[in-house]
Amino acid sequence: MHATRLLLAVIFGLFSVSPSSPEYSIQAIRYASAVNEPVSALVMGAPKDEKIEIAMVFWLIRGGGHDVLFDSGFHREVWFKYFPNTAEYMRPDEAVKLAGVQPEDVTDIIISHAHWDHLGGIDLFPKATVWIQKQEFAYYTGEAWQTGGKHGGIDPEDVQALVRLNTEGRLRLVDGDDVEIFPGIRAYAGARHTFASQYIRVDGNPPFVLASDNCYLYRNLAEHKASATFSEADQPANIKNQERMVQLAGSADRVIPGHDALQFQRFPTVGRVAKIK
Ligand SMILES: [Zn+2]
Repeated sequence: MHATRLLLAVIFGLFSVSPSSPEYSIQAIRYASAVNEPVSALVMGAPKDEKIEIAMVFWLIRGGGHDVLFDSGFHREVWFKYFPNTAEYMRPDEAVKLAGVQPEDVTDIIISHAHWDHLGGIDLFPKATVWIQKQEFAYYTGEAWQTGGKHGGIDPEDVQALVRLNTEGRLRLVDGDDVEIFPGIRAYAGARHTFASQYIRVDGNPPFVLASDNCYLYRNLAEHKASATFSEADQPANIKNQERMVQLAGSADRVIPGHDALQFQRFPTVGRVAKIK
């Protein structure tokens, strides 16, 4: 009797664990590079004259019937003018095919933040539902364009695309920190890179954290240095978030920085696509 009860307790214990999440695959897709990027623009306090080539990346997460992009790259002409150091560019809807997915098969896009090189590809994936922080959406569709508002690096056409997606029922607002988007994929509120950025953890064996611009390079993690685009007031919060990412991933090796070309060396890579997991 006692043994039976114990057995039942064990079984119910197992089933009371949240429904198991799929074992997702994660691929990094390098749709462009940016050459001669000053490291000091990425890592606080880095020497002014040190330059590196960075990767322009979005990530593909597959599992549980979803083909999810984390960020979407960019394609609008104007940004090539503003950032002439862009190289080896491939449009994100072409680049995604290299990872074995057609653009119309992408079911969802989680946007880390509204900057041009992360949000600018949302209109290339005709069936995708877009997920963005509620405050990020509210700010860039409103106050950002009023007197005193800030909208550096935000493309008005991306904002219009976001509003259009919302009216079409293809936008989901993620409300704050530690929010589950899909079973085993959770969003975390980043510090103020833009108004309300986010990064994600993909559950699994082992788990990974995709940082996007909340951590540009492995060097930010190794040296405990804030990403240089955060205002001085927000840098301590950015460093705290980087520490939290390491905790959430269980290891600094499983935090994937937003623009580090090294992810295409540390993980098995064919052409532009790295298989993180
Ligand atoms: Zn950014």
